[in-house]
Amino acid sequence: MFAPAGNFYATWRAPFTVAPVLRDENAVPAERLLQAIWKHQRLKRDRLETADGKTVRVLHPGFVSVEGGPDFCGAMVQIGGDAVRAGDVEIDLRSAGWRAHGHDRNPNFANVILHVVWDEAGVPVSAGQNPKAPDRLKPRQQPLPPTLSLKDRLDAPLAELGLALENEPLRSLPENLRGKCSAPLRELSESQLAELLRAAAQVRFAGKAGAMLARARNSSWEQALWENLFRALGYKHNAWPMQNLAETRPRWERGGDSAFQLQARLLGTSGLLPDELTRAQKGSDTFLRRAWDAWWRDRDEFADCLLPRSAWRFYGLRPANHPQRRLALASHWLADRSFISQLEAWGAAVMPDKKLLPALLEVFQVERDEFWSWHWTFKSARLPNPQPLLGAARVTDLAINVVLPWLWVRAREGGNEQFRSEVERRFFAWPAAADNSVLKLARQRLLGAGKTRALRTAAAQQGLMQVVRDFCVHSNAVCDHCRFPELVRGWSIPEGRSH
Ligand code: SF4
Repeated sequence: MFAPAGNFYATWRAPFTVAPVLRDENAVPAERLLQAIWKHQRLKRDRLETADGKTVRVLHPGFVSVEGGPDFCGAMVQIGGDAVRAGDVEIDLRSAGWRAHGHDRNPNFANVILHVVWDEAGVPVSAGQNPKAPDRLKPRQQPLPPTLSLKDRLDAPLAELGLALENEPLRSLPENLRGKCSAPLRELSESQLAELLRAAAQVRFAGKAGAMLARARNSSWEQALWENLFRALGYKHNAWPMQNLAETRPRWERGGDSAFQLQARLLGTSGLLPDELTRAQKGSDTFLRRAWDAWWRDRDEFADCLLPRSAWRFYGLRPANHPQRRLALASHWLADRSFISQLEAWGAAVMPDKKLLPALLEVFQVERDEFWSWHWTFKSARLPNPQPLLGAARVTDLAINVVLPWLWVRAREGGNEQFRSEVERRFFAWPAAADNSVLKLARQRLLGAGKTRALRTAAAQQGLMQVVRDFCVHSNAVCDHCRFPELVRGWSIPEGRSH
């Protein structure tokens, strides 16, 4: 290690590191350290080879995954004479981990292009690759990706790397992995960056409003609102099945007079009403029997609207965000015939900005659901205290992505200029939403650590996500052919211009 002898700070941290343990030449690093080594590419990068002797060229190690699944996504790797491939990288201590951890049966690992391990001992033979296994015995498996062992490929002793990297937050991006736009963005003043993000947010907002207008022209304003509310309740993983359900609303809403009846229809139509009783939770089973009684009568009528359960994604979902719970929430909104006029009244009301969110939460919040206020899932035990069906953080998403664009585009179409500009003002003043994985990565990749103040509003966050959509998704991890840095460099606005 290169800490000068006598450096007091080096002695402060030494007791808290595992580096001494790693001095043993048979030591095995923790998986987290292995991930940090991969992220920082502390490797003899010109000597990397797969287990079967092909050279490995790492053009980009990828970005630490924040949503489960493989450890790194968006990596770029060239193996042997093959073309450069972009995909995911999984890190395990041993090659046997591929099968032992069930990656071979997990569809989220289908895009893994490289399995990085400490030690390649016991490279697993995938049954999918075993020519002797009869077809009917072969489970559906992800093909085994090429394996790269790091054990003899580190650029420094393991103990030294342990000291250098073990406290490094995995999710921060080192300078050399930042986007090419990060330097020109850093050169902008605070007001210039705010202006840029504001312009991008305006584009995003207008895009959402335009899509709602198109939908309203083909159906109605009310239908456009419901489809977007349902999409927002699906978050990013279940937006499409939610939208599908909302599209058939005119069918299943008819004659659905109570929240419970609508809920049974929604659960039945969505394919999310469990076929079997839990046999462990009495309260759940009573609710399920009643829901089935209601759904049984309706099922034939809605046979053409049914969604398969496989349309939904559950991986990595928190129980509070489970679509069953979200459908219960929507059923209360639908049963309340004044729901839409309450939203309109919120839009028209004059109130201080700090009251906007709590007032909107009041419209969205459901006082009590007989089952879901007391249960996270069908299988979970009854909670000691009732839990809200919607948190304040979600209200920001609903406001920014649905309510404000919907009110704005209606005001514009109706020629109500004053109301339109008030809605726009609310959009730009709305405080920042909770972080999400796209935003976290974008912030680090584009802005680094220094400019986080620029993201104090939800609109600025939206602007950043728009840049990702317009530029990052058309490029790759090394920013190939991305015009954004050059556009930022060539852009000039008068300093200090603000809204
Ligand atoms: S792809 Fe473009 S916008 Fe995205 S980080 Fe790279 S340079 Fe920036």
